[in-house]
Amino acid sequence: MTQLALVTGSTSGIGLGIAMSLAEAGYQLILNGFGEPEVIDQALADVGAVSSESPLYIGTDLTQPRAIELALSEIFESEGSVSVLVNNAGMQFTAPVDEFPVDKWDQIIALNLSAAFHTIRLCLPGMKAQNFGRIINIASVHGLVASVNKPAYVAAKHGLIGLTKATALETAEMNITCNAICPGWTHTPLIQTQIENRASDLNISIEDGGRALLAEKQPSKEFVTTDQLGALTRFLCTDAASQITGASLPVDGGWTAQ
Ligand code: NAD
Repeated sequence: MTQLALVTGSTSGIGLGIAMSLAEAGYQLILNGFGEPEVIDQALADVGAVSSESPLYIGTDLTQPRAIELALSEIFESEGSVSVLVNNAGMQFTAPVDEFPVDKWDQIIALNLSAAFHTIRLCLPGMKAQNFGRIINIASVHGLVASVNKPAYVAAKHGLIGLTKATALETAEMNITCNAICPGWTHTPLIQTQIENRASDLNISIEDGGRALLAEKQPSKEFVTTDQLGALTRFLCTDAASQITGASLPVDGGWTAQ
């Protein structure tokens, strides 16, 4: 039977890249995320084009624990256990800590950290029963180091790495692995506002705004690609990676080596 892979936040950016890569590897995908109907249809068509089985879609708002419970119980009922869980959905908001809006703090912690706790706690019993599971949490370089004006994001991503380690220890003898991938700058809608702000602050083009962000932090001066993150996720699902667990793997052009 085809194994199920759930990738949260896969209507866009990194999640879509990971979903494409896992579909190519033969998994049946469950996509999730927001977007206009045509954006979601396009994501389903793109993943469907490289899949042996049609992808499924859940529009669950992952900041809502009860909605996560309902969506996952429906999946388990109709499709069975999830073999690969990729916690990727995330959001960003930038402001200094003493000016950070409280509602934005709550939303970022709910989506970038607590949602992963809920999907993991709900998917693990099925993984344990089938003696196989792969959990990949898309953290960030900001799970390893901080930057100014990102207190909620940095706190959530550091927390996600803690959750990754704790889950890995509890599942180490069960053929279940749990790892975090820590990307540096990856050109997706999530960083578009930061690129535009940098361009406007420096009165330069959007393209040069992207270059300025890279020059400040990412020694390779190149964006990470969603294909690269998809390929690493796919590798972590193989037998060759069965002894990699509890790891936080930077894919950051040297950012955290500095
Ligand atoms: P993106 O904005 O392109 O995609 C985010 C996805 O999450 C979308 O599918 C969106 O619909 C979904 N989403 C947003 N709110 C949601 C909610 N409440 N419930 C369900 N889904 C929701 O962003 P991206 O750059 O592809 O980011 C994906 C992950 O990678 C995030 O966790 C982000 O923190 C992380 N990351 C991104 C970068 C980068 O440079 N782009 C770097 C490091 C880490």
